[in-house]
Amino acid sequence: MANMENSFRGSVERMFTHAAGLMDLSPGLEEKIRVCNSTYTVRFGVRLRGEIHTFTGYRSVHSEHMEPVKGGIRYSLDVSQDEVEALAALMTYKCALVEVPFGGSKGGLCIDPRAWNAEELEKITRRFTYELSRRNLISPSQNVPAPDMGTGEREMAWMADAYKRLHPDDINAKACVTGKPRTAGGIEGRVEATGRGVQYALREFFRHVDVMKKAGLEGTLAGKRVIVQGLGNVGYHAAEFLSVEDKALITCVIERDGAIVNPQGINIDALRGHIVATGGVRGFAGGQYHEEGLAMLEHECDILVPAAVESVIHSGNAERIKAKLIIEAANGPVTADADEILKRKGVVIIPDMYANAGGVTVSYFEWVKNLSQISLGRMERRYEEARARMLIEELERISADTGTNFKLAAGFREQFLHGADELDLVRSGLDDTMREAFGKMRDVWMANRRVDDLRTAAYVVAIRRISNVYGSLGL
Ligand code: NAD
Repeated sequence: MANMENSFRGSVERMFTHAAGLMDLSPGLEEKIRVCNSTYTVRFGVRLRGEIHTFTGYRSVHSEHMEPVKGGIRYSLDVSQDEVEALAALMTYKCALVEVPFGGSKGGLCIDPRAWNAEELEKITRRFTYELSRRNLISPSQNVPAPDMGTGEREMAWMADAYKRLHPDDINAKACVTGKPRTAGGIEGRVEATGRGVQYALREFFRHVDVMKKAGLEGTLAGKRVIVQGLGNVGYHAAEFLSVEDKALITCVIERDGAIVNPQGINIDALRGHIVATGGVRGFAGGQYHEEGLAMLEHECDILVPAAVESVIHSGNAERIKAKLIIEAANGPVTADADEILKRKGVVIIPDMYANAGGVTVSYFEWVKNLSQISLGRMERRYEEARARMLIEELERISADTGTNFKLAAGFREQFLHGADELDLVRSGLDDTMREAFGKMRDVWMANRRVDDLRTAAYVVAIRRISNVYGSLGL
């Protein structure tokens, strides 16, 4: 990061203030929407390896205009109050933008998860859950965490189980956290959701010639050169789907220990396997290794996908970025100063609050599933299939009766007879959410000359919705 040109929270506030300045909010309401309501800091001890170790955790609640509030829990040594508050604010705006009925929250634990084994991490996670539960900072009706950097299904399962033990009479206990494994009340498609959302966002972008033109892009995603930073949950799924399903070329992957470059396109699954086996990208045979990973952000490409940490594009390197389009899969990868520079250069940015909203969207579906205690599609699937079969059999009967020799195209029958299962419904709901939200942002961007980029448009849509809720509450 280039000095403290603006802290992550400072960047988010600057971007918010820029957008709010274009709206006719009263100063009091603007302040109410901007500020973080509360941040809880906890220090707790856990006996591990024969000693007591003290850990520091945070849970920040940015806005309770809707409840429960929602946001991930991050395990990283870089976690700080400034960071969780910035992330909680982004959650508020993100939920409003994609019409997920939650307020914004975020949590973090200052820990290097790679320094502890699974048994130790479980002890630490259960203890952290206990501390959060004592203050209603984990609860199906008030505050629902989810995975973020350094956490995943495993940690969410521990949290859900710890909560259930503390609240055995709560029939909705499973809904206290999302991103759980399927076997512990999770939903199909949650692990891939954020990366899948990035893919849907790019597909939607490439459906609109006017926005593509602003980035100097044309055609389809096929053959576009893509650089991805961070091949974790979000980066891996985005890169895998874009390369396998949309035929984009992932020409560079940047990880902690360096970068892999291959102008013909990297085999993402193979690289992921290599990272899991060796802990990094060094030594991967499917591309050229470069030790200076960060410098690769400035490599020639069409689309840059920062999917690791915040503030990696700053005033010190923004001028040298060559991508035409940046999609912020991570939260806050572009600082407010860099944002200005890139805008001047004509680089289009699909902002984090939209680009990575797939995670919270599918988390919302999981929460609804937990509350309704039934998996998505269970009631309709066979009914739909029976009706589709009726239609095909009737067409075949008419064809036989009239001698028209009617023939279905190869593969059509199976596809048509397939009733939607949970994964189909989740992907459909996510696709719809990403398309709708893009449409709203695009309308604001295109209709108002003072709205000079997609990020400002996203803030305007989100702030308007939040102020409407406050309005209906009499504020
Ligand atoms: P993750 O821990 O699964 O993966 C992060 C990856 O980035 C890892 O592979 C790590 O090695 C790499 N990385 C870390 N620091 C790096 C650096 N300086 N340079 C290059 N690579 C680096 O985390 P994730 O869940 O994929 O989250 C990534 C980003 O996406 C975060 O900003 C997070 O807040 C955001 N996000 C995640 C979700 C989700 O559902 N997981 C949802 C919304 C937003």
